[in-house]
Amino acid sequence: MLIDLHVHTYPRSDDSYLMAEELVKQAKAVGLDGICLTEHDGFWDPKDTRYLSEKHDFLVLGASEVNTEEGHLLVFGLDRYVFGMHRASFVREMIEERRGAVIVAHPYRRTFWEEQARDPVAYRAMVQRACENPIYRFCHGVETFNGRGLPQQNAFSQEVSRTLGLPGAGSGDAHRLEDVGRYATEFDAPIRELRDLIREVRAGQFRPAALRPSREGLRVSPLAGLGGNKGALSGHTAAGSPRPAYPLLHQGGCGQGTQRSELDSPPG
Ligand SMILES: [Zn+2]
Ligand SMILES: [Zn+2]
Repeated sequence: MLIDLHVHTYPRSDDSYLMAEELVKQAKAVGLDGICLTEHDGFWDPKDTRYLSEKHDFLVLGASEVNTEEGHLLVFGLDRYVFGMHRASFVREMIEERRGAVIVAHPYRRTFWEEQARDPVAYRAMVQRACENPIYRFCHGVETFNGRGLPQQNAFSQEVSRTLGLPGAGSGDAHRLEDVGRYATEFDAPIRELRDLIREVRAGQFRPAALRPSREGLRVSPLAGLGGNKGALSGHTAAGSPRPAYPLLHQGGCGQGTQRSELDSPPG
């Protein structure tokens, strides 16, 4: 199953241009099997995600993208924002208590610098520094393909995932229609509800995938081996990172590079 684990809707995420209904329709149209709504520090009421699921006959799950001082975390299995969640150690305790799951979003943010990437020694040191972040000691995976990340930024995330031996995930980090389904995460087991997803994420049974347009329609292109997942190809270097499936219009991951103008501001 192909699930986008990281998408934002307006108004719960105020930097998103996507209304939930249009997001679900687009996710279905591009060939995804499900989405996980991850608003910035926000949570959906399970009643509302269930309503969307039933109305559109499509898997819609609720999670959150929590902004901690140590980085953005996609958290699965928590249901509300509690003061203290700006610290990763606090999120860790909550996740352990609830037996939830965590994937580190866009690991390149605030850790990847273009200038240092040009020198192999400096690049290696930059990867090592990123890997020292305590969030990697308790997360279950790393977002190695972010739909709004530049190829070199995603390649850096893949290096982090490989260095730490953590499984990689793909997601659109959609804030606009064209971001939906740029990357997704592939699961072998059927995912019917959040608990199924959490179980598979905790077990590391997932891999990044891209949906690519072809003559026959959309084709799934597994990116296995590029995210540090089981059976990963060794010796893959940053220079060998795959080309993005679609032109990357909005770079840098969520919270960067998108400013809503009066002209294209969504209703509501
Ligand atoms: Zn983010
Ligand atoms: Zn995001």
